[in-house]
This record gives sequence, structure tokens and C-alpha cells, in this order.
Amino acid sequence: MPFRGPSDLHLHSDRSDGTESPTGVMEAARAEGIRTAALTDHDTTAGWDEAAEAARARGMSFLPGMELSTRREWRSIHILAYLFDPDDPALRREIERIRRSRRDRIEEMVTRIGRDYTLSLADVLTEGTDDATVGRPHIADALVRAGIVADRSAAFADILSPRGPYYVSLYAPDPLVAVQLVADAGGVAIMAHPASRAGQLATRDLDEMVSAGLAGFELGHRENSGAHLRMLRAYCATGDLIVTGSSDYHGAGKPNRPGEHTTDDEMVARILEAGVGTAPTLG
Ligand code: AMP
Ligand code: FE
Ligand code: FE
Ligand code: ZN
Repeated sequence: MPFRGPSDLHLHSDRSDGTESPTGVMEAARAEGIRTAALTDHDTTAGWDEAAEAARARGMSFLPGMELSTRREWRSIHILAYLFDPDDPALRREIERIRRSRRDRIEEMVTRIGRDYTLSLADVLTEGTDDATVGRPHIADALVRAGIVADRSAAFADILSPRGPYYVSLYAPDPLVAVQLVADAGGVAIMAHPASRAGQLATRDLDEMVSAGLAGFELGHRENSGAHLRMLRAYCATGDLIVTGSSDYHGAGKPNRPGEHTTDDEMVARILEAGVGTAPTLG
């Protein structure tokens, strides 16, 4: 496979909650020395074409990707999907359902916040592109712009907290369903930041997901830590699963820098081999 490392396979643009265009994201990755990159916006493929072109223009390789929102009980689980068919009807239906729920949920959260602060839905929606997947980060940016909080992190710690009075949950499929949808669409499913505090699954749940097609785990990620990460290292080695490492870059929205974690060439090759739903751009 003619691609070159270093590879960063988890980056967000302004088609979801990153602050830069897909071109800007590829530029930022290239500036940090990345030669193979994926765009993985939340629940959308809207940035693929622009990112592929930007990567090509810079002599980089590009993997089309997405980060799917899923939930099991209270756990928010993110599933990274690579090289799937963006026109697969079942996957598209599910993404549309999540995105519709996200819009309704943002509207309801803004209504609640608007009782205590001066904030309108229009203020929030202007923070993203017209086709962006909306999320709490867009509310955060509107709160920052209005001078109500200092930055995104402050907003998440207080007004946007799931334990606070303004929080509304979104519809999200079970992670097992998401893995099946991605696999059926010819894609490669990797569990994002699996040892973060947002939600860690027990081994028997992981076994079930691996049987359904979960190909691997993003073990290199700044939010992973502790005993669960050590367990997953052994789990991946024993099962010969794919292991990735990525930055989860969000532009100015998070401190994460492109290339702060990277994926080994051998693992990138396995993803390229397994993903048959759409073609990468190799350069
Ligand atoms: P949502 O999916 O709308 O509930 O929002 C979650 C998103 O917010 C995640 O995808 C993160 O990228 C982002 N996020 C979560 N916590 C923070 C934080 N403390 N600072 C900035 N962004 C955050
Ligand atoms: Fe995000
Ligand atoms: Fe995530
Ligand atoms: Zn992410």
C-alpha cells in the first residue's frame, strides 16, 4: 500500500465540532508532519470531498472516516468508522436519525439555558457551517462569544454538564448496532478513546462487539488511562486486533494537537486492507 506515516486517523473539522474547514484541518496536520490523515467528523461525511482534495494537493494520503455517536445505558461510546460506503441506506438512515435528534436536543438545551442567560438558537447555529453536525461545543462557542464563559472547557464544566439543569440527552444507537451498520457498509469500526471516563465496557460486551465486526481500539488517545487501558492492551494483543493512536484534533476547540498520538504503518495497512466501502486517496 503506497502510503506514508506518520498517520493521524482522528481529526474534526467545522462539519462537526472542529473550528477549521476540512482544508484547514489537512493543512494543520501537514504542518505537524502528518502524511496520512483521516477526517472523522461526528455523524457526518460532509467534509470528505474537500479533505480528500486538500490532502491530494499536499501529497498526503487520506482515509474518509466518521465518529458515530452511540450509547449504552449512561455510557457515551464513540465508534470511529473508516472506508465505509457513504451511500449505504441503513447507515445513512441511522446517521440522519442521530443528527435530527441532535438538532432537537440543542434547541431544547438553548431553551433551558435561555431562561437564565441571554442566548438564542440563532446565536448557536451561526457557530457552525450550515451542514454541520450540531453539538454542545456550538453552544459553548456561543456562550464564549456572549462573554458568559471563558472557553469551551469552562462551558462543559458548568452550564453544559450532564449533571446540570440544562442538559438534554440525544438519541444514539447501541454501539453493537453501530458496529454492525459500519461493517455491513464495508467499513472498519474502531472504538474511539475506549478507556476514557465517558464510558468503559466490560470484556463480555467487547467480545460481543468484536464478534459483530469491531476491528480494533484507539488506545493512543490523551483521554485513555488507568487499569482499563492496561486491560485493553492485553485484550488487543491476545485477539490480534487493530490498535490505533490519534489526536482527536478539534482546531481551537480543544488543546489536542495533530500527531500527538499516531497509528503504526502496519495498523494503517490493516485498515486499508479491511475497508472496502469506499476508496482512500493515496499520495
Ligand atoms: P455532544 O456530542 O453534543 O454531547 O458534545 C460532546 C462533544 O463535545 C465531544 O465530541 C467533544 O469533542 C466535545 N467536548 C467534550 N468535553 C469538552 C471540553 N471539556 N472542552 C471542549 N470540548 C469538549
Ligand atoms: Fe467532538
Ligand atoms: Fe469522541
Ligand atoms: Zn473525536
